[in-house]
Amino acid sequence: MTDNEAHRPRIVRVYRTAGGSAYHRTDECAWLHKGQRRAAQQGKNLHDIQQVHREAAEDKGLAPCEHCYAE
Ligand SMILES: [Zn+2]
Repeated sequence: MTDNEAHRPRIVRVYRTAGGSAYHRTDECAWLHKGQRRAAQQGKNLHDIQQVHREAAEDKGLAPCEHCYAE
């Protein structure tokens, strides 16, 4: 059962990084920060966490994070 359809706001903001392939429901998602740490360990540039509309993220082919969208 889900109420999400009924309660979904018109504009949903999600969080992403320029280097990530998923978008997140919260900027405190553990996976989001794990990805940031892994990039740092590999000597990659860290991308700032950006707040975007979910539609924009989906337009770019990003998938919902399996961690923070798992119910
Ligand atoms: Zn997440």
